[in-house]
Amino acid sequence: MTKPTTTNTGIPVESDNESLTAGAQGPILLHDHYLIEKLAQFNRERVPERIVHAKGAGAYGELVVTNDVSSYTKAKLFQPGARTESLARFSTVAGEQGSPDTWRDPRGFAVKFYTEDGNYDLVGNNTPIFFIKDPIKFPDFIRSQKRLPGNGLRDHNMQWDFWTLRPESAHQVTWLMGDRGIPKTYRHMNGYGSHTYQWINAAGERFWVKYHFKTDQGIEYLTQADADRIAGEDADYHRKDLWEAIERGDFPSWTVYVQVMPVAEAEGYRFNPFDLTKVWSHKDYPLLEVGKWTLNRNPRNYFVDIEQAAFEPSNVVPGVGFSPDKMLLGRVFAYADAHRYRIGTNYAQLPPNQARAAEVNSYSKEGAMRYHYNEPNVPVYAPNSFGGPHAAPERASDGGIWDFDPAIVRAGYLQHAEDGDFTQAGTLVREVLDDAQRERLVHNIVGHMLGGVREPVLGRVFEYWKNVDADLGKRVEEGVRAGLDGGSQG
Ligand code: NDP
Repeated sequence: MTKPTTTNTGIPVESDNESLTAGAQGPILLHDHYLIEKLAQFNRERVPERIVHAKGAGAYGELVVTNDVSSYTKAKLFQPGARTESLARFSTVAGEQGSPDTWRDPRGFAVKFYTEDGNYDLVGNNTPIFFIKDPIKFPDFIRSQKRLPGNGLRDHNMQWDFWTLRPESAHQVTWLMGDRGIPKTYRHMNGYGSHTYQWINAAGERFWVKYHFKTDQGIEYLTQADADRIAGEDADYHRKDLWEAIERGDFPSWTVYVQVMPVAEAEGYRFNPFDLTKVWSHKDYPLLEVGKWTLNRNPRNYFVDIEQAAFEPSNVVPGVGFSPDKMLLGRVFAYADAHRYRIGTNYAQLPPNQARAAEVNSYSKEGAMRYHYNEPNVPVYAPNSFGGPHAAPERASDGGIWDFDPAIVRAGYLQHAEDGDFTQAGTLVREVLDDAQRERLVHNIVGHMLGGVREPVLGRVFEYWKNVDADLGKRVEEGVRAGLDGGSQG
């Protein structure tokens, strides 16, 4: 027997088919409260989409620690043998909710760990670096990658205008135009914490760390031609692939590594270790294995579990902390603020965001849609004389502190010996890519530029690529000029 339909408050409804009208051909009546509830609820079904990373896919899984990194961190989730439930969300950055999964773009790689000390979120990307290094540029950067205000169209000229006026983007743009700029699936890409974080051990010693999630499926990519075709055939190609792989029990996994830098080495390192447009060379700081991260459970309801999932770099647990990476510090504010606006102030009470810690003893109260509340006799202020919660520094680790020069300034990053906007981009082109990868890089850049880049931006783009690598720049210019003249490209 099917269950009876009810209103949201459990009242049986008279009909799923007919609205209440004054006579068979008369007007619909306002007191048909079930009809009103249905239409009004429908109008409110969507929450605003994320301003970035709107289109995504996600799943639950777990982290199992296979190595002993306890000399670097006391975080419980990283202790030998620990198992921690996890939620992942992968996404494109600039596209909207319905946009094709195969557009060239970095992919978000957001991970939530439900630890006994509270939720730990690692809100990374599938790239170890980023386009800019100061959060004051972030809204400008994102606007330049989205749509023109007048005609609502995306615009390559605007993208390259911004990138060339902010040459710190060169490393990330080189990476983006290469093969990894369009992963074959979400399963076939690496994840990186990207920022520099802090680890704190039981003795209170601090280290700088970078996270690397290396795909066990192997890195695979789509050519521009395949990606363009798939964008038309199946806009949800990556979301579908992840869902179907998990449904058939083919659980994707990643081996988790960290690079660890003793705090004392940061000042003298050849690159500024807090600059998000740079990597730490593997040769200087080899990868140290931590464990295995596997996705093994699909969401039961996409909206509840994934659309309402709120990842925030401010969620750090004892044993983990922040660093002088300015982009990280900007995001520590911006993500939680985005959730308060997008989902509502009590977003942390929703199923994907709820802490699994034994206790949540926050003094937060009330606000729209409040569901959990403290016992009536628990004071709503601290300190108090009535047994309310109090801070326990011995359980925490204050990941928000480090030594620094106390002058308050507006300044760029301190330049280390080998810093420069184009250095690591050039290394990538000359020392990491092979001839075939370089060929595809030129092809992708030329194709992208022929999508509408005009003077005066055009001349600046040629300079930009010549600064990355003289030969690459020459080939890009030749390819674009030939294309503009109606000849062959790349
Ligand atoms: P290594 O030779 O030790 O590392 C090169 C790394 O480049 C590889 O380990 C791989 O990273 C990554 N890589 C390989 N093919 C590609 C590709 N087609 N597109 C993008 N990345 C690729 O040298 P270094 O560590 O000294 O780094 C040299 C350059 O490599 C850097 O300037 C940077 O551009 C790039 N790189 C470095 C990473 C790092 O954390 N050190 C990470 C990713 C790129 P992975 O193992 O993560 O797949």
